[in-house]
Amino acid sequence: MLKNLRFDQMLDQLAPAERAPVVFLGHGNPLYAITDNAFAQSWQQLGQKLARPQAILCISAHWETRNSTLVHVGAMPKTIHDFYGFPQALFDVQYPATGAPELAHDVALMLKNHAAIPTEEWGLDHGAWAVLRHLYPDADIPVFQISINRDLDFAGQLALGRDLKALRDRGVLILGSGNLVHNLRAISRDVDAFDWAQEFDEKVAGFLSDRNFGEMADRDQYGALLPQAHPSVEHFAPAFYCAGLVDEKDQLAFFNDQFDMGSLSMRSFIYY
Ligand code: ZN
Repeated sequence: MLKNLRFDQMLDQLAPAERAPVVFLGHGNPLYAITDNAFAQSWQQLGQKLARPQAILCISAHWETRNSTLVHVGAMPKTIHDFYGFPQALFDVQYPATGAPELAHDVALMLKNHAAIPTEEWGLDHGAWAVLRHLYPDADIPVFQISINRDLDFAGQLALGRDLKALRDRGVLILGSGNLVHNLRAISRDVDAFDWAQEFDEKVAGFLSDRNFGEMADRDQYGALLPQAHPSVEHFAPAFYCAGLVDEKDQLAFFNDQFDMGSLSMRSFIYY
């Protein structure tokens, strides 16, 4: 089995690649978009070291649709401030990247078996721009989102990811943005990480290390841990889309494998 690499080893190894990597980022608190902490610094380092992608396809926990996969084909995605109760500085953030209409229309065709529908009615939600503004602060790489179809089970999301594999050969960076453990009701300033949260996080990390995506997508593997780790599963879903894009020969590195507020796993991964 391939050995996982540390974040710094992985950064050293990244070279201009023929094939774009697949990245899943734990995004956590929206404020991290404008905070200079260790998470933000890791996103900046990654952006500096990754080969420059032709475009970015982002799959964010914060765009869910029913019975379909919407593909944003707009030329100028608007910056969506989809939260309440945060400082004005966060509402003032703009991420003025262009879209990638032609590529997005191709993606809608690639996903014709997954009820894909092109739309101009979206832009970039904070799951996308909160990390993108650290990865690519100049906003000079075209970016577009596809929605999470909440009527697909995990296996269906995995299958959809698989049908996007060809994009990697076209230099399209696929970026999942969610959290491997995400329970906002349980957040606590007094606990580093709850036992159940850690157990769930390690279980998922094990599946990712073993490339055992079939079991990762099987709810029975988690039992009562799943509703604890994810009272709703939208922050877990992007990990399945990403897993579908993984090839046998890809190496894996984890980073940011820490908890925030006890019940938010910031663990992130890259297959490259
Ligand atoms: Zn979120």
